[in-house]
Amino acid sequence: MKTIQVVQGDITTIAADAVVNAANTTLMGGGGVDGAIHRAAGPALYAACEKFGGCPTGEARITSGFNLPAKYIIHTPGPIWHGGDHGEEQLLANSYRNSLTLADEYGCRTVAFPSISTGVYSFPLDRAAQIAVRTIREFLRSASHVEEVTMVCFDPTTARAYQAAVNN
Ligand code: ADP
Repeated sequence: MKTIQVVQGDITTIAADAVVNAANTTLMGGGGVDGAIHRAAGPALYAACEKFGGCPTGEARITSGFNLPAKYIIHTPGPIWHGGDHGEEQLLANSYRNSLTLADEYGCRTVAFPSISTGVYSFPLDRAAQIAVRTIREFLRSASHVEEVTMVCFDPTTARAYQAAVNN
């Protein structure tokens, strides 16, 4: 049975096969969840990310989980919200789909996502939640290994938005 679930918590504590990082296009760390993941994973993550030379918005790259309880970290720069007519919705869907594709290629059964782009990148929360849930559901229909996707929401407002999207 393939499932999507929503929990409130800190993604750096989640022992999934892969956790996703809402990165920026440099992949060299930043604030928010990106900073938290880099702090918890340790400096070896920075060295591993440096080798990629950045990553375009909506694409994804994979590293070891280093000091995290997760086996892998998948780094994806979500779109910055510029009003909605700059391809933001498609780019956000790409971030989820490309992250899941990598997780599946690496044989991951469980994957945890933060709420990509709804922090500093200002993507409207309810729209982001709908896009995330729709894209994850579409992906799960044809996934070979991924069976359980968890949205790890840092605050109750975010958790409610994703739970509403899952319930629809
Ligand atoms: P973006 O730049 O993609 O908007 P942010 O890190 O600013 O990324 O925010 C994305 C979401 O991640 C926000 O809901 C923020 O509250 C949340 N967040 C921040 N720290 C963590 C964490 N340790 N675990 C899970 N989510 C987190």
